[in-house]
Amino acid sequence: MSEVETSVEKHVFEADVAKLLHLMVHSVYSDKNVFLRELISNAADACEKLRYEAIVAPELLGSDPTSRITLTLDEENARLTIEDNGIGMGRDELVESLGTIARSGTRAFMERIEAAQNKDGAQLIGQFGVGFYSAFMVADNVDVVSRRAGTDKAWLWASDGKGSYTVSAFDLADAPARGTRITLHLMEDAKTFTSRWTVEGIVKEQSGHVPVPISIVEKPG
Ligand code: ADP
Ligand code: MG
Repeated sequence: MSEVETSVEKHVFEADVAKLLHLMVHSVYSDKNVFLRELISNAADACEKLRYEAIVAPELLGSDPTSRITLTLDEENARLTIEDNGIGMGRDELVESLGTIARSGTRAFMERIEAAQNKDGAQLIGQFGVGFYSAFMVADNVDVVSRRAGTDKAWLWASDGKGSYTVSAFDLADAPARGTRITLHLMEDAKTFTSRWTVEGIVKEQSGHVPVPISIVEKPG
C-alpha cells in the first residue's frame, strides 16, 4: 500500500480496548461469524449517516448517490475486504472511533466481563455484539482506509490488535472516492471467509435486513 506522507503516527490503544482485544484474540467463542455482521452493520450505518448529512449538503453525494457495500474475497492472499461508500472517517474520527471505547454497548460489555471475572466472556461476546474490534477474532492484521465524504484526504489505520495501531496519510488514488475499506488479513483458521459459499451464507443469515445492497466479488487471482 502506498503512503503519500512518510510520517506514520503510532498510537497506543486505550486500556479498555487493549483488554477487549486480548479477549477477542484469545476467545474460545465459537461463533466467529458475528464479525461480519458487525462490520456490515457499521458499513450500513455509515451509508445512513451520509444520506442524513446529504439532506443539507447534497454535494457530499457527488456523482455517486447510491449506497453500496462490497465484500471482496481474495483467496490467494487470505484477505477479506469490506468496503462502503458511506460517510467515511477523517484522521481524528479514526483515532476516536477505533482507538477508544466510545460506544455504550461495549462499555456495558466490559463491565459485565469485570463482574463475571472473565468466566463467561465467550458467551458475553455473542450477547453484546462487540462491534468493530470483533474483526480481530478472525484477522491478525486489520487495515482501514477511509476518506470522509467531501474531503480530499484519505487515511490508513492499521493494527495487529496487540496494543497499538498506526495512522498515516494514504494515497488518494488508491483510496475509495469516499467511505471506508476494511481489509482483514485472515488467520490461518479463518481462511474459510474467502469462500463465496461461506460468506454468502453468513450474509443471508445475519445481514438480510440491511437496507444497503451488498455485493460479493472475487478478486481475480
Ligand atoms: P458502534 O457501531 O456501536 O458505534 P463499533 O465498534 O461497531 O460500535 O464502531 C465504532 C465506531 O467506529 C462507529 O460508531 C463509527 O463511528 C466508526 N466506524 C466503524 N466502522 C465504520 C465505517 N465503515 N464507516 C464509518 N465509520 C465507522
Ligand atoms: Mg457497530
